Parts: sequence; structure tokens; C-alpha cells
Amino acid sequence: MSGPDAETKMQFLFALRSAGVTQTDVLQAMETMDRGLFLRGLFSQRAYEDVPLPIACGQTISQPSIVGLMTQALQVTPRDKVLEVGTGSGYQAAILAKMARRVYTIDRHSRLVQDARQIFDTLSLTNITSLVGDGSFGLPDQAPFDRIIVTAAAEDPPGPLLSQLKIGGVMVVPVGQSDHVQTLIRVLRTQDGFEYDELRPVRFVPLVEGLGKET
Ligand code: SAM
Repeated sequence: MSGPDAETKMQFLFALRSAGVTQTDVLQAMETMDRGLFLRGLFSQRAYEDVPLPIACGQTISQPSIVGLMTQALQVTPRDKVLEVGTGSGYQAAILAKMARRVYTIDRHSRLVQDARQIFDTLSLTNITSLVGDGSFGLPDQAPFDRIIVTAAAEDPPGPLLSQLKIGGVMVVPVGQSDHVQTLIRVLRTQDGFEYDELRPVRFVPLVEGLGKET
């Protein structure tokens, strides 16, 4: 496990800061997590470019600056129990695991969950629980959550996820028509209901119903 050289890491952090990722805890977590471990073959050589890249099952690992901005918007604290919907490569979950007490991550593709689990084991990230399932229903058995992050685009924030958010909890989710540019929103659950903030345009793969067909 060699990781990037010092100059590559400096350029990576510079790109994150230029995109607006300024919170020290987020930058530290991203600096210490080698994105190359979450990619296969030739793509691992491009791990430190600020671009989304292909992973198995026709999915993508998100662009690092978007991972940083979403993590920042989530306002994670070390006491938090976090749910991530859309494990993908496991990169976002691994970053959250550095900042939160416990992370539950769920993906509809069992192959992605198996691959991510192996990386979490290698990195001794023992505070991540990874599961296969349709994450639009959340994880009722583990609810409520302090933080929920959805890394696939929904037409609206899924109702079950809203109901599994603690009062005072925060959810970050891209919403909009799946094939178009979506809007990243932050939802705050208050005593009286939900407050919605539009953050920025993003482009994510869609949140799909049911389990993935493994090839
Ligand atoms: N967070 C990931 C990472 O760090 O690599 C990137 C996630 S990728 C952009 C979106 C993921 O959402 C895909 O792996 C896809 O299988 C998953 N997904 C889509 N619909 C889902 C659903 N209903 N439940 C769970 N996962 C879903």
C-alpha cells in the first residue's frame, strides 16, 4: 500500500480547497484515505484526479470534491451514527468512518458491498457495518440516525429516510430527474418538521428500486 507521493497529495488537497472544501476534519479524513485502494486496474492510477471514475456493476466512485462538499454539508461529529445509502466503492463510507462513531452503509449490489467490506477489513475500519439492500427504505432496525447521506439521485427525499432522521439530524441528498443535473439538498429535522436548503447542482447515478442483478 504505497499511496500517492507528496506532490500528488498536495495537488489533491489544493483541488479540494479550490472547490470549497475547507473544514479541517474533512480535509484530514480525505488526506489520510487512499482513494486508489477503492479503484481497480488502470483507474487506480487516476485516483487523485478530481473526477468520478467507473467501478464494478456499471457504477461510479464520486468526484473527490463532491465527496468533500457532501461530507462537509453533513456536519458530522464524532458522536454520530451515520447512514450512507449507496456504498459504491466504499470510499465515502471510509471517510465518514474516520469522523463518526458508527457508519451503516447499504448498496443494492452485493458485489460492491463484498468488495467494499474487504477494503474496510484491510483498513481495520471496524466502525462500518455494510449491508446489501434497497437503501431507499433505510434501516428501520438501526434508526434513528444523526446523519444520513444519499449518494445516488432521488426524485424526492425518500420518506422512510426522512422518518429515520433524529430531531436535530441532517440529511444530504441529490434530488431531481435522474438523467439531468440534480440539486444537492440538505435537510434538517426540527421539532416542528423539516427545513430544506439547496446547496449546488450535482450529477449522480439514480437511486434505483430493488436489488441489483449481479453479473
Ligand atoms: N458513495 C459511493 C462511493 O464512495 O464510491 C458512490 C456511490 S455511486 C455514485 C451510487 C451507488 O448507489 C451505486 O453503487 C448504486 O448501486 C447505489 N444505489 C442506487 N440505488 C440504490 C438503492 N435503492 N439502494 C442502495 N444503493 C443504491
